[in-house]
Amino acid sequence: PRLANQIAAGEVVERPASVVKELVENALDAGASRVDIELEQGGVKLIRVRDDGFGIAESDLPLALSRHATSKILTLDDLEAVGTLGFRGEALASISSVSRLSLTSRTAEQEAAARVEVEGRDMDAKISPAAHPVGTTVEVRDLFFNTPARRKFLRTEKTEFNHVDESIRRQALSRFDAGFTLRHNQRVIQSLRPAESNIDKERRISSLCGQQFIDNAVVIEAEASGLRLWGWVALPTFSRSQADLQYFFVNGRVIRDKLVAHAVRQAYRDVLYNNRHPAFVLYLEVDPATVDVNVHPTKHEVRFRDGRLVHDFIFRTLHRALADVRP
Ligand code: ADP
Ligand code: MG
Repeated sequence: PRLANQIAAGEVVERPASVVKELVENALDAGASRVDIELEQGGVKLIRVRDDGFGIAESDLPLALSRHATSKILTLDDLEAVGTLGFRGEALASISSVSRLSLTSRTAEQEAAARVEVEGRDMDAKISPAAHPVGTTVEVRDLFFNTPARRKFLRTEKTEFNHVDESIRRQALSRFDAGFTLRHNQRVIQSLRPAESNIDKERRISSLCGQQFIDNAVVIEAEASGLRLWGWVALPTFSRSQADLQYFFVNGRVIRDKLVAHAVRQAYRDVLYNNRHPAFVLYLEVDPATVDVNVHPTKHEVRFRDGRLVHDFIFRTLHRALADVRP
């Protein structure tokens, strides 16, 4: 089974950023209100993700590392209204097969924490007592130490770090209610407190996307026919340093969708006569029953039941907002 894990690991574990993404999703799924991420050498030497979620019971620790041991039950109804991010039950198993992984956790019912450690193909998970508050810490060391072929595909420390940074940006943009810190080689890169008010949210956007973006952005807020759209769209005065600042979330999940891209771009072009790809951070909230998020395993694609309605709603909302501020 470890070999099967290693083969399957290629699907989820491509680079440090994919590990961080899975670990942070798990933390958020566990109801964490803060997630601390620490990296060394772009995450290749160390990835440590610590959360204050509900933890894993000691007796479930080895199970959490086994394939398809998801506790996130999967029925067709669940698929329609996916509340949790992960449901394949293979991330930890895959990651542990290509690294030295330790999982330390404590639930509210436990007096003390426990730790389980595994190393690559090593089958025996060793459990030992540990000190840890309620919540979980996952440490992933020496990624791909036992799969040199995969290790060769890793880029420079800086490039790997940038991928992690981007992945955390998306997660932090989608969960204002959670706090995040990111450290790289002992340096604090991001420190984001939970954001409740609009000012807090704008502060977070500014930390993640730059003050320039917020300063040049139009605030979007509209609701109609069971759809809600809110967020920020930058005017052409925003001079981008980032190549691609386009984030669109559907019910909290970042997506790429042609229909959505078309609606945004068309509104932008119609009102501002500008042909560039606009920069935006937008949130669409829809009835989960009207959108299929399981089109693709990465869940970056969606299918709307009424695509026309969604397209026109986005187009009209942005058209109005941009026309209001047109010089
Ligand atoms: P999945 O998230 O798809 O269920 P994973 O391999 O990512 O599969 O995790 C396996 C299981 O381990 C989860 O279902 C969950 O029960 C438990 N788990 C993993 N990380 C955490 C965490 N940070 N807090 C609480 N439970 C966790
Ligand atoms: Mg998971």
